[in-house]
Amino acid sequence: MCGIVGYIGSKNATPVLIKALKKLEYRGYDSAGIAVYTADEIIVRKVKGALKNLGEKITGELVKASKTDPEYEKQEMAIYEKTADFIKGNVGIGHTRWATHGEPSDTNSHPHTNMDGSISIVHNGIIENYAELKAKLQAEGVVFQSQTDTEVVVHLIDKAYREEKDIFKAVLKVIHLLEGSYALGVLCKDYPDRIICCRKESPLVVGIGSGENFIASDVPALLEHTRDVYYLGEKELAVLYSDHVDLFNFEGEKIIKQPSHVEWDMAAAEKGGYPHFMIKEIHEQPKGLTDTMRPRIVKDSSGKPVDVFFEENKMDDAWRNAKRVVITACGTAYHAGVVAKYAFEKIARMKVDIDVASEFRYRDPILDKDDIFIVVSQSGETADTLSALRLAKQNGLKVVAITNCVGSTVSREADDVIYTLAGPEIAVASTKAYTTQVLCMYMLAIKAGKLRGTLTDSEASKLLAELEAMPGKVQQILDGKDIIQKFASRQFNKDKIFYIGRQFDSATSLESALKLKEVSYMHSEAFAAGELKHGPIALIDPQTLVVAISSEPHLYEKIGSNMVEVKARGATVLVITQDEKSFEGKADEVFKIPECSSTLSSLLTVIPTQLFAYYCAVLRGIDPDKPRNLAKSVTVE
Ligand code: GLU
Repeated sequence: MCGIVGYIGSKNATPVLIKALKKLEYRGYDSAGIAVYTADEIIVRKVKGALKNLGEKITGELVKASKTDPEYEKQEMAIYEKTADFIKGNVGIGHTRWATHGEPSDTNSHPHTNMDGSISIVHNGIIENYAELKAKLQAEGVVFQSQTDTEVVVHLIDKAYREEKDIFKAVLKVIHLLEGSYALGVLCKDYPDRIICCRKESPLVVGIGSGENFIASDVPALLEHTRDVYYLGEKELAVLYSDHVDLFNFEGEKIIKQPSHVEWDMAAAEKGGYPHFMIKEIHEQPKGLTDTMRPRIVKDSSGKPVDVFFEENKMDDAWRNAKRVVITACGTAYHAGVVAKYAFEKIARMKVDIDVASEFRYRDPILDKDDIFIVVSQSGETADTLSALRLAKQNGLKVVAITNCVGSTVSREADDVIYTLAGPEIAVASTKAYTTQVLCMYMLAIKAGKLRGTLTDSEASKLLAELEAMPGKVQQILDGKDIIQKFASRQFNKDKIFYIGRQFDSATSLESALKLKEVSYMHSEAFAAGELKHGPIALIDPQTLVVAISSEPHLYEKIGSNMVEVKARGATVLVITQDEKSFEGKADEVFKIPECSSTLSSLLTVIPTQLFAYYCAVLRGIDPDKPRNLAKSVTVE
């Protein structure tokens, strides 16, 4: 995910672009850049780090106040205004990046340009077939500057422009060569009177001004200038001039669209109309899962999924020979590790040990150089996880990192890194990072199973096909969220909430209890369902809510007995299951998840519990985005 902007009109484009990018920093903040057409050339300035660095680079001035000082923002904005004195032009594009391909660096920042600098582009999304396109272009003599997937697009446009002699036709030709998701903004030196943009599976909004027009990934970037917009539809293009905008479909035919008027205020706009980032991010899970999965699933010529390919993966031999997998992480990421324990055992028949990083690092763990060590960290900066990683490396182990942040410390120090492509997660409590971590674990287990011969080709294809169906099933759960909201409105005053489950569902129970604690401050605990009778059942009374998670048909009966035990002692019972019939008379409420393989159900069972945590927080008057005492990235011990 990233933010793109564009401006064409009579104002100086430079400060307009940078100030618009400021409103999109929540979409990406690892680097920023602009391309502005000045006199007869396109000037590109781009730099790693926050947008502030770009302002400082252009003006040569520094924000001197500390971040906590109220002067900080004033100085930052003054620098943005001053950029007008350094780059003068009336048309330009800009980008704030959340890296997916290639670490955050000056060269990997957008805009990207063709070899003679006459075409410049910004991109939000992932070009899935970039490796193949890049190899072809390199064979034709194109020299690449960056490691991004994006750069292939600008070189392809350059090539098509030389053939077509028309920039619109060139862009139209190239979009038919691209697989994946993209919102693109294109500037060409030979056409200083226009910006071309298009979108497929990434958002793009055209802002309609008077004598000026804009593009942006999201509405907040436009609100200072206009509330009249065209929401570009899937597979549509727009050509912006200062006095009008033409819209097209991907066949190049002109289309007519009615503009929309935005009623949101700035705060609502930043959250895409959702009241909080947490609920927005819960809803972004189908996209996060698709983005994380799609480029990695290998298909045969008939389109059947057959294997998993992680392009960063250098460890096939290590996976073939490993005797054991050791997983360490903290908090929610640790729970993704608990799912992985069951997944590796079941799918790849591998032994798994798992520990929280803060314990692991002070143990005297017995490690073998044939073990594969997996660390999981959303931010890639978690101090305890980093120490565990270093300890494993000192012991000669190969380390695989699963993280959401390209170029983070964990990703740099690991031997191998698998990125969750969830986009930036702003809410402190993790939701979309968790489900994409779980997905990566499933894919890794399938890959390991294939490499080790413990999973047949047909079993692998079946699991992969089921994985591909998961984003749609998550969406189905989200579409039925009202049921959870109503349930929360009856339960948010409960004193004690117990989550119980067995096997994969016990992992979801752990994550569900943590989510509820984090955002609603309700006292919630998770127990392996069979453990209830060994102690916790003493706590059950009519003030207790028990949420039973039960997605594995062979365990329905067992967990049904646990539910009857707690119901008999006065607890209210909710069951989350694929099959409501098996729990008739045993639960007060049932939430049905779509049918799925019980091996992969962890991707679904957690969604209703995330929603429940969110609604309870809101009902209790708590801001779920900023729970007390918690920080997003825990960089201290
Ligand atoms: N895939 C592109 C990159 O890594 C764009 C990422 C984004 O959408 O921010 O540069």
